[in-house]
Amino acid sequence: MNQFSNDFIREIPKTDLHVHLDGSLRLSTLISLAKDRGIELPSFTEEGLRELVFKPSYKNLEEYLTGFTWTGKVLQDAEALEQAAGELARDNFAEGVRYLEVRFAPQLHMHRNFTFEQVITAVDQGLRRARNEINGSLKEPEPPFEYGIILCAMRFFNSQFSRYYRDFTAVHPYSTPLEIIQMAGQELAKAAVKLQTESDIQLVAFDLAGSEHGYPASAHQEAYNYITKNFMRKTVHAGEAYGPESIFQAITDLHADRIGHGLHLFDADMIKNTPAQGKKNYVENLVNYIAENRITVEVCLTSNLQTAPHITDIRAHSFRNMLAKNLSVTLCTDNRLVSRTTICNEYRLALDNFDIAPGKLKDLVTYGFKRSFYYHSYTEKRKYVRKMLDYYESLEKKHGIR
Ligand SMILES: [Zn+2]
Repeated sequence: MNQFSNDFIREIPKTDLHVHLDGSLRLSTLISLAKDRGIELPSFTEEGLRELVFKPSYKNLEEYLTGFTWTGKVLQDAEALEQAAGELARDNFAEGVRYLEVRFAPQLHMHRNFTFEQVITAVDQGLRRARNEINGSLKEPEPPFEYGIILCAMRFFNSQFSRYYRDFTAVHPYSTPLEIIQMAGQELAKAAVKLQTESDIQLVAFDLAGSEHGYPASAHQEAYNYITKNFMRKTVHAGEAYGPESIFQAITDLHADRIGHGLHLFDADMIKNTPAQGKKNYVENLVNYIAENRITVEVCLTSNLQTAPHITDIRAHSFRNMLAKNLSVTLCTDNRLVSRTTICNEYRLALDNFDIAPGKLKDLVTYGFKRSFYYHSYTEKRKYVRKMLDYYESLEKKHGIR
């Protein structure tokens, strides 16, 4: 135990910039939504589902992903999405999260009677209502709660993934699977830009999620170019199951502002094509580039331990190296239900297993706010961040942190 009490961790203003809506449902909500919609689940009790699906640890990534099959089935209408989004905001706020960026892949929820616009509107409504309710109950000098929505394109899908993907695949019989994936990404990018321009929905960024192996980021260059040219911001899941080259591609091909996971950033032996500068130099240069440009790494400790079972000791996680190299990093949950974690739990894990002095902790928290894809203007963002830091410092005093 260190000087950071659980109360301090809970009270300090925090962000969660990497959390998947469909991986973060309340278990009780999954059960009630399934019951109301006549959807079969492997069990209808929380204990049963924890034993069969949402486990403390998983054999491999496939087993980890099983949970999404069930949450995906219940999130196919506006009411369900709005409820899930609202509860996610409230649960986060209860843990001291003041800024939340929720991500999901709209094409997993769309079908003929449920359009892109309806999907996003439902999620925005849920978050918006929760935010207004939360902020209406705050007392000065407590800083307000705010949110943003990130849309995920998929590196990989097949026609089984959703009704939309089934239809999309069916109408492109002359295209290869990779071409179909590419086109779906471009379609999503266009939809995102259109909605961002024409509505006040708090859409802030574009993401690329899903299996990295065999599905390179370069396939999504065109979609990301379109996003960049329309001033939307970008994050990319990279280096989660694949080495430094995947992170390199995310930065050079897709111009990522942030990297999801980046777990294998330092693993030179995972490089497939030896670069001219040599593997060791390549990693060093890549790390320096990321640090220098403040490309922020969204670190998800629990999730990584579950999907990369070869990391048997959390202290061997590359987070240690990221801290040592002064990268801009922020702690995130990834999937609250599937990973059985909370943001407070992620901070507890980090503080108990890595050498983090009070100043460093404050930096970590600050990176989250500063490198968020805040919806409002940069001037407003600066004021917002300042308010967070003032509040943070008052809590340091209250808890005697020095
Ligand atoms: Zn993720």
